Amino acid sequence: MTERAWGPDAGVVIRRITNYYTVRFRGEDYVCLPRARLKKERVAIHVGDRVLIEEIDLLNRTGTVAEVLPRFNMLPRPPIANVDQAVLVFSADRPAFNPMLLDRFLVLVAQSGIDSAIAINKADLLDPEALEALVAPYRAVGYPVVTVSAERGDVEPLRALLAGKETVFAGPSGVGKSSLLNALEPGLALKAAEVSAKIQRGRHTTTYASLYALETAGETAYVADTPGYSHLGFGPLHPTQLGWLFPEMAPHIPDCRFPDCLHRGEPGCAVAERAQVAESRFASYLRFLEELEATEERLASTSTKNEGAVKRKAAAGGGETKLIRLAAGARDDSRRKSKQRLRDLHLEEPEDDEETDGQPDDQVLE
Ligand code: GDP
Ligand code: ZN
Repeated sequence: MTERAWGPDAGVVIRRITNYYTVRFRGEDYVCLPRARLKKERVAIHVGDRVLIEEIDLLNRTGTVAEVLPRFNMLPRPPIANVDQAVLVFSADRPAFNPMLLDRFLVLVAQSGIDSAIAINKADLLDPEALEALVAPYRAVGYPVVTVSAERGDVEPLRALLAGKETVFAGPSGVGKSSLLNALEPGLALKAAEVSAKIQRGRHTTTYASLYALETAGETAYVADTPGYSHLGFGPLHPTQLGWLFPEMAPHIPDCRFPDCLHRGEPGCAVAERAQVAESRFASYLRFLEELEATEERLASTSTKNEGAVKRKAAAGGGETKLIRLAAGARDDSRRKSKQRLRDLHLEEPEDDEETDGQPDDQVLE
């Protein structure tokens, strides 16, 4: 991930409170206002942005954001830029490990164009062989996998996974995300909860993510404070695109005889012939495929026009879309559709996700 080199002069926006941005620069935090030109040009500054700062006051730890460097991706709601990876946290037991749910998260994250790593917590509840059997299919695909126990304080493999990267955590509740954050640095998850409570109480209830900077072995790890990021997936997904989001299937897809092959028994299917897909992973694939097809059918019956648009968009996106859309207008439209699809996929509980919808991401400077 070190190809995203911004150079030693770049700081990282780790927090935003109204128009004040806290920038971590060379191991210190500076509270900065944006330079007038950025305001005038309505340049958005998001948590996670790499910025150049000026007028640094070492005594008062203040400065001015002079420039926002190009970001390579952006997760909306709460907005967070330049995410290197999502760490999907699941538990070995209590709640029982649920491979299909993990596969859903992996598909969603892949759809956002973000790399996934997997952390299996509560390793203390399972014997080592059973634990290895559980993670083997994911190691085989090539996902980075760590097994940890917040309870036993055994979190060093997770710390190593985070080093030098900007990470969001995702995963079902009860698996120990907060416990892991606290095991990495005592008080971390607690602080996160306090900050978000304060922001919620404010008059303009816009939620901003914050990043925690963990200094680890000379490298800074930036970890989003939202334990359980719930809005990772965006963009409609056509059934033929699903296979591209399974890394063990994707390289074989171009060799399938039919370009719209769904890898479900079609003649000349290279995935069936050559891909090494674990049984549980293929079961997930088939299940998601059915759900996507059901959604397609429902859309087709409710609005033919609408479905055409979705299909065209999906086709234009192709299997190689690596970044989520940045244009606010386009996104708003796809948000509604994708939100519905996420629900269809049971990827998130229908909940309070309208909280920041009144605040377009690009209007952060007033
Ligand atoms: P979150 O909802 O993902 O943030 O999960 P929490 O951090 O609140 O943890 C849920 C429950 O799992 C709590 O009762 C924790 O004490 C427990 N827990 C967390 N980590 C571990 C672990 O490594 N082993 C065991 N046995 N329990 C854990
Ligand atoms: Zn095929």
